[in-house]
Amino acid sequence: MEQILSCPVCHATLPPNSYYCFNCGKKLQDNPLTLINKVKIYAISVLVPPFGLWYLYKYSKFNDAATKKVGKVAGIVTIISLIVTVWSVIALTKALTIMVNRQLDQTYSQYGL
Ligand SMILES: [Zn+2]
Repeated sequence: MEQILSCPVCHATLPPNSYYCFNCGKKLQDNPLTLINKVKIYAISVLVPPFGLWYLYKYSKFNDAATKKVGKVAGIVTIISLIVTVWSVIALTKALTIMVNRQLDQTYSQYGL
């Protein structure tokens, strides 16, 4: 992980992994994701799975380990969501097929077929 030890603008000595220079306010690296942002990302991953994969791709390029983790979790949530979606569609299709077949059987037996 990259450690910024002095500000490129005012040359103040900074603690490692500072997001802003405390002296001049220069932005040094991207802010860590806030809890609200994380919740948003996970919600999007669950509700619209393809976007979760985009987060996985986007955050895998970040240096920050915490941000990378959010991307990974978003990817995992996306995959789980996709599996659940596919599984429900299959289950629903099966249920509908059984219903339709029963209906057809009844109709056939009514006409003595
Ligand atoms: Zn500075």
